Amino acid sequence: MADPGTVYLAGSGPGDPELLTTKARRLIDECDVVLHDKLPGPEIIELIPEAKREDVGKRAGGERTSQSEINERLLALAREGKSVLRLKGGDPFVFGRGGEELEFLAEHGIGVEVVPGVTSPMAAPAVFGVPITHRDHASSVSFVTGHEDPTKPESTVDWAALAETGGTIVVLMGVGKLGEYTTALHEAGMDPETPVALVERGTWPEGRIATGTLETIVEVRDREGIEPPAVTVIGDVVGVRENAKGALE
Ligand code: SAH
Repeated sequence: MADPGTVYLAGSGPGDPELLTTKARRLIDECDVVLHDKLPGPEIIELIPEAKREDVGKRAGGERTSQSEINERLLALAREGKSVLRLKGGDPFVFGRGGEELEFLAEHGIGVEVVPGVTSPMAAPAVFGVPITHRDHASSVSFVTGHEDPTKPESTVDWAALAETGGTIVVLMGVGKLGEYTTALHEAGMDPETPVALVERGTWPEGRIATGTLETIVEVRDREGIEPPAVTVIGDVVGVRENAKGALE
């Protein structure tokens, strides 16, 4: 059984309920309360009994619940002796702010168990036949946030260095600023013909992929109406999908 007064910091995987780990699935049943946002996706959220669901994605007014409010809520529930499942999309430690929650809870003496999940930058491209590494195309892969504006000096992502590595780049939270970082990569010397894929809601029933090149992908995004959550995959591995189409359909 789930331990009272403990927070389980768990990933829900990319959205397909069959990609939940057995452990996360068990904790949904065993924990007293489940704090989640929208990212796990409707099919997984429906598995959580309504009486224990707490949506911490949005406040009543439509604003995002702040990280400190989420931290305080986790702390209060654990101090009441509840077993708490903090369920996050993908893996809790990949751009999920799970690290911050772990530090906060540890500081307050709360027991935490981390339950890894299947992370979207690997899984979403995979189901569309895009392997993020490949002996012939890429021997490294970088997971990058697209949330920062590459033209601002405070940007901590070194796009020029990424352009140099020759490995696959997978950008999370990168639909809105797609134009900014593809331009930054181009200016740093990346071939404008480099294949690029946008994978929206990978593993969800309505999941889809749209492909182009470093030069055309913004146009593709606008034409197809690609929206978050989506990952951007940049690199020659995107071409493998073309070679594998027959097998995937
Ligand atoms: N912890 C998550 C990532 C959270 S950041 C993980 O490990 O997957 C939120 C970003 O994740 C989104 O902006 C999007 O880039 C990506 N994402 C999450 N689920 C996705 C999915 N099913 N398909 C495509 N991208 C997804």
